[in-house]
Amino acid sequence: HDYSIKRLRYPSRQEMAPMDTSSLSIVRDPNKCILCGLCVRVCKEKQGVGVWDFKNRGSRTEIVAAMDQPLAESACINCGQCIAVCPTGALTSNSSVSEVWAAIRDPRKTVVCQIAPAPRTALGEEFGLGSVDVTGKIVSALRKIGFDRVFDTVFAADMTTIEESNEFLDRLAKGEKLPIFTSCCPGWVKYAEQFHPELLDNISTCRSPQQMFGSVLKKKYCQELGIKPEDMFVVSIMPCTAKKYEAKRPEFTTAGSYDVDAVLTTVEAAQMFREAGIIFEQLPESDFDEPMQQATGSGVLFGATGGVMESVVRYVTGKLLKTEGRIDIEFVRGMADTKIATLNVGDNKLTLAVVNGLAAAEALIEKIKSGELEVHAVEVMACPGGCVGGGGQPFQNDSAAR
Ligand code: SF4
Repeated sequence: HDYSIKRLRYPSRQEMAPMDTSSLSIVRDPNKCILCGLCVRVCKEKQGVGVWDFKNRGSRTEIVAAMDQPLAESACINCGQCIAVCPTGALTSNSSVSEVWAAIRDPRKTVVCQIAPAPRTALGEEFGLGSVDVTGKIVSALRKIGFDRVFDTVFAADMTTIEESNEFLDRLAKGEKLPIFTSCCPGWVKYAEQFHPELLDNISTCRSPQQMFGSVLKKKYCQELGIKPEDMFVVSIMPCTAKKYEAKRPEFTTAGSYDVDAVLTTVEAAQMFREAGIIFEQLPESDFDEPMQQATGSGVLFGATGGVMESVVRYVTGKLLKTEGRIDIEFVRGMADTKIATLNVGDNKLTLAVVNGLAAAEALIEKIKSGELEVHAVEVMACPGGCVGGGGQPFQNDSAAR
């Protein structure tokens, strides 16, 4: 009866097709699909995965997950690039908004939030403020809607840099498990598990910043607050749909409780602010909570392609050459699919590669395996441009797949 519409003149006789909600990251509603094929193209051509495909012909054409199986049982790497290009909302993230509201309303839970670097300007754009860093406003908004503590994932990105750099130096000294591949991107990690199990020893053993922070919160910060891990509810705000899948991997638990309980994409965080009636543009700026407030500029670089590599090379260079001060690694920057350079670091000549998009990663892996290319370290990010182009970011009209 809304808007006085009592009945539709031409009721649809078409049966509604069931939605696929099997994936932790992506929901597909085939009733909204207009068969444009952008998801098929991005998955096949940019990611080299090929989960989505056409089935049947003519008026019976459909798009299905390969072999007509539920998405969760397919080779989907959860990157959400299909969501980023879908023009109708047939593909969306598997929303955690209700779950997070329930935790905020639960008086037994201490609800703690961490924010990754990439959503900070994306939320500025989403609320019409342009491409500016709105971190301070996000912190204020999160406190207003009921989070008990708000932390910066960049703190954990710094921990990842230190761990991964020391692992790299150790492998260089021993001459083993080279090249080292980065481990921050869960889309890439699942891709390697499925298609390149022979490379798993080369992937860094470090957790991603999201999972490092979750672990610190559940193992240490709980003790500091004098609460049990199951009474703390940890939420991450990420540009990423694959992080939803990563958070539910069985290895990331403390005393039977997930280290990260729920992951909100940038879009879902904006939805919560709107549902709460927050006038984002008018919010004052606030600081993150202590402790774990201190973080470096290098950690912020994790949000874009080349950022992890630049961060690691800065640390490794400082350690090998015993220098202090700012070090800029220019070749890793920019949006090219593949960037390779050789740097002299003291007595070491290091060849480093940065790729974004898994089709580019596949081409690089082939060159390494054939002996055409010898590298010491490789950064792989599944999304175009790195996490700033993640599947959980607001709709991107200039998406690379269009
Ligand atoms: Fe997620 Fe970043 Fe990997 Fe994309 S590149 S799947 S946003 S971690």
